[in-house]
Amino acid sequence: MSREKLKALEELQKVDIRIRDLSAEAETHPARLRQIESERNQAKSALDASRGKLADNERARRQNEQLLQLEKEKVRKWESRLNELKTPREYAALARELDIAKKTNQGAEEELKRLAGEYDALRKEAASGESALAEKESVVEREGKEIQAVLDSVQGKMKELQAERARLIAACDKSLVSKYERIRKQRGGVAVVAVVAGTCKGCQRNIPPQMANNLLTSNEILTCPNCHRFIYAAEEPQAAANA
Ligand SMILES: [Zn+2]
Repeated sequence: MSREKLKALEELQKVDIRIRDLSAEAETHPARLRQIESERNQAKSALDASRGKLADNERARRQNEQLLQLEKEKVRKWESRLNELKTPREYAALARELDIAKKTNQGAEEELKRLAGEYDALRKEAASGESALAEKESVVEREGKEIQAVLDSVQGKMKELQAERARLIAACDKSLVSKYERIRKQRGGVAVVAVVAGTCKGCQRNIPPQMANNLLTSNEILTCPNCHRFIYAAEEPQAAANA
């Protein structure tokens, strides 16, 4: 019976659609995993950059503090020698040196003040970078586990569906299965459709009235002249129309 053969194919089609939907659903999870991992990596790089700037700031502060200390010692030493100098020329030369050293000190002090202000801002930046990273880490940890659990369950379901598919294929007419495979690949996974009130439910176009008649009376397996899917007459037009 042609109707029985198509019913067997339709059962196969139901399982094939579930397999297709499950595969599509499964594909979204690794993408999500890659996304949250990349967000985590970005947070990590941002924090590394903040810590680098903080270390630069600390290094610059130490350098300026050392410079300031050396120059202050110089100034002290020179100031104590000013009174021992014999000639105005010597005095003027040392006074000039002192002036330069004092300016250097002033510059170093200003730089230290600036660095201290920057340090506070950088400390805040690094602290917020740390909490941002911790948050992204916990997302990866939590969602990563969830995603793995979903993928495991998808794998289990897929195994069941594949076993069911193998059982259904064994019950199908072999000569129709390869045609079914070809049509469903070309037609979005749907190869067997009902005709309701003269309309193919695959492409929503009317089939010729004579063909609609043949569907009811002949035992031949027919395909829609427009979309080439296998067609059969809906037994309950109302139910099929609502399906
Ligand atoms: Zn059609």
